Amino acid sequence: LPEQEAFDIEYWLLEEAKLQRMPKPKSLAGRIALVTGGAGGIGSAIADRLLREGACVVLADIDRQALGETAELLSGRYSNDVMRAVAMDVTREDAVEAAYLAAAVEYGGVDILVSNAGIASSAPVEETSLDLWNKNMSILSTGYFLVSRAAFRIMKAQGIGGSIIFIASKNGLAASPGASAYCTAKASEIHLARCLALEGAPEGIRVNVVNPDAVLKGSKIWSGDWLKERADAYGKDTSELEEHYRQRSLLKRSVLPEDIAEATYFFASEASAKSTGNIVNVDAGNVQAFTR
Ligand code: NAD
Repeated sequence: LPEQEAFDIEYWLLEEAKLQRMPKPKSLAGRIALVTGGAGGIGSAIADRLLREGACVVLADIDRQALGETAELLSGRYSNDVMRAVAMDVTREDAVEAAYLAAAVEYGGVDILVSNAGIASSAPVEETSLDLWNKNMSILSTGYFLVSRAAFRIMKAQGIGGSIIFIASKNGLAASPGASAYCTAKASEIHLARCLALEGAPEGIRVNVVNPDAVLKGSKIWSGDWLKERADAYGKDTSELEEHYRQRSLLKRSVLPEDIAEATYFFASEASAKSTGNIVNVDAGNVQAFTR
């Protein structure tokens, strides 16, 4: 090649390499997200995913110790300015209002709500006490109502729309033995999301649902060990239990918290700007298998 042409090509290749190395703009920059149950196995993965895309995140959870641990692990990855941790019980109106106030004071509002706080506590119907039934209803059904009502109020006042994502469950669509309280509460979350999608549309508030199937391992930034707990409860060893869940799915794959976080990120971002009232099952195909 003539000297000038070789120089041009080399220069062009260097420019290309430089462009490749340049950081891409973050898709949630300037957005503020509240993640309930943010200290838990799935919530921490969701918080991590939204932070990675540039959102400011308020972690809200009833478990102060877990909240502190998760916040510490996340602050090792991101600047302290982009994350706050708030102790909050989703069943208490005053606590929910206080969490939104904290988000408004710290960051100026809330654009994204991920309603994820939950429990997994159920029993066969004849052994289900009224307390157990009410606990499921108050944390799952009422809790999801309270946090979304507060989100609607703040998002309407902001006047720029918003995105609400419910982490419900495959069990909100498909019955599961010995879990009527949980399944009923999760089904109510899904129907609440549909109602809110209708109400929110004129204001640009989108409401969508992500349904996990059994997620056996907590996120990479979470210290709990569900797999061991569940395996002990079923009298199986951990690899046996994992294999059982993997084999019953169509895709023969385990669902991870990071998979739930990815679907949540989709609904939080502009990539889903034309989606509301939708339900996505992140279940490796298990809902299909169940209803076949
Ligand atoms: P997790 O127990 O790790 O997280 C739940 C979090 O919610 C905990 O940090 C807990 O402290 C918090 N919480 C409980 N009650 C609360 C309250 N009253 N107020 C505020 N926070 C409260 O469990 P997870 O699996 O990460 O659960 C997240 C969501 O995913 C839940 O709604 C759950 O029903 C749903 N889900 C989980 C699975 C699974 O297999 N892990 C499957 C389907 C659906």
